[in-house]
Amino acid sequence: MTLAYIGLGSNLEDPLAQVTRAFDELSALPDTQLLERSAIYSSKPVGPAQPDFINAVALLDTQLAPLALLDALQAIEQAHQRVRIEHWGPRTLDLDLLLYGDLVIAHERLTVPHPYLTQRSFVLYPLADITPELHLPDGSQLSNWLHQCAPDGLTKLPSNPEC
Ligand code: ATP
Ligand code: CA
Ligand code: CA
Repeated sequence: MTLAYIGLGSNLEDPLAQVTRAFDELSALPDTQLLERSAIYSSKPVGPAQPDFINAVALLDTQLAPLALLDALQAIEQAHQRVRIEHWGPRTLDLDLLLYGDLVIAHERLTVPHPYLTQRSFVLYPLADITPELHLPDGSQLSNWLHQCAPDGLTKLPSNPEC
C-alpha cells in the first residue's frame, strides 16, 4: 500500500457539490482507502478570468500503481463532464496526483511530485491540514514551502457550511 495525496479543484456547476462528490468517488476506488480529507477552501483563479475555485486535498492509501491511479482520477474527471477548452481554464473537476509515497516520476503522462505543488497555496495549506509534518521526496519540509507561499485569496470554509 502507498500513501497518495490528491488535489481536488472545481469552479463550475456547483463546485462544492463537485468536490464533495469527488471525495465519495475517491473513497470508492478499487484497492484504495480514503484516509483523510482536508478542509475545503475557496481560492482565486490563476490563468484566464473565471469564477473562484473550491479546493481540497485527499489522502489515499492505495494499491493502484501510479499510472493506474492517474487513469482512475481521469475517469472520475470525465464522469464530471470535464471538458478541456483552454489551459488553466474553468473546469467542473480537476484531480491532480500531488504525491505518491516518496516516488519521483517523470513520465510523459505523469510528473510526481506535481510540478506546481510547492508554489500553490491552495495545495500547500490543505496538505498541511492533513499532514503538517509532511516531507517531500527531496527531503524538504512542507512547512518551509508553506511559509514561503502567501495564502493569497485563499479562504478556509467553515467545516459545516449549513451552520
Ligand atoms: P496543472 O498541471 O498546472 O495543475 P491542469 O491540472 O489544468 O494544470 P490538466 O489539463 O488537468 O492540467 O492535465 C494535463 C495533463 O497533465 C494530464 O493529461 C496528465 O497526463 C498530466 N499530468 C502530469 N502530471 C500529473 C499529475 N501529477 N497529476 C495529474 N495529471 C498530471
Ligand atoms: Ca491542476
Ligand atoms: Ca489536472
